[in-house]
Amino acid sequence: MIPQTRPPLLVTIDGPAGAGKTTVSRLLAQRLGYRYVDTGALYRAVALAAMAQSVPPDDDEGLERLCRRSRVEMTATARGLRLILDGADVTDRLRSREVTRMASAVSARLPVRRFLLTLQRALGRGGGAVFEGRDMGTVVFPEADVKFFLDAAVEERARRRHAELAEADRPPLATVVEEIRRRDHDDSARQLAPLKPAPDAVRIDATDLSPREVVERMLAHIEALP
Ligand code: C5P
Repeated sequence: MIPQTRPPLLVTIDGPAGAGKTTVSRLLAQRLGYRYVDTGALYRAVALAAMAQSVPPDDDEGLERLCRRSRVEMTATARGLRLILDGADVTDRLRSREVTRMASAVSARLPVRRFLLTLQRALGRGGGAVFEGRDMGTVVFPEADVKFFLDAAVEERARRRHAELAEADRPPLATVVEEIRRRDHDDSARQLAPLKPAPDAVRIDATDLSPREVVERMLAHIEALP
């Protein structure tokens, strides 16, 4: 049991695509009675806006203007977390391969990272939240109370992503392996907020663990905190 007297913690979960962060973060937040924030969805929403307004991912001025005039909100509903872009619920449009590629591209650009840094820190105020992303423990919340880095073998991550994709948008498994490798490389090699474990993150390899087993390990770690 997590002692009720403990002040609400800020928990971060970083890791590469397909490691199971979303399922695990959602479950962990539920078990702790905390809010869950999927920061990948914020990057995906900006990508969607850029695609809709034909702003290329290397046009920093265009992206800056786009961020300035876009309203990105995240709300928890009975149907789960919903992403509202300029007043419209775009949640169901965020997971296509096209948006995924664009999200990875725009996430390497300074105006986008700056815009979402402010937004994420505002969402983190007061703690009592589980934030999942790539740079939660390193850049956005270096002072987080608990940091996890969740990883898994690339073939296993690709297999999970492949199973999640809608049938109409599902290429051969080998293509998904290739796409995940490329995204791992782009996310880790970029100059701004690259994907890497924070020095004080607890690392968990989820290749052979179910989401529940991962969550149990995380809870055990949190319970053992002084
Ligand atoms: O986690 P998800 O796959 O939804 O993230 C989509 C993309 O957004 C990632 O490939 C990554 O490039 C970017 N991202 C990021 N920083 C975060 C969350 C996501 O750069 N905190």
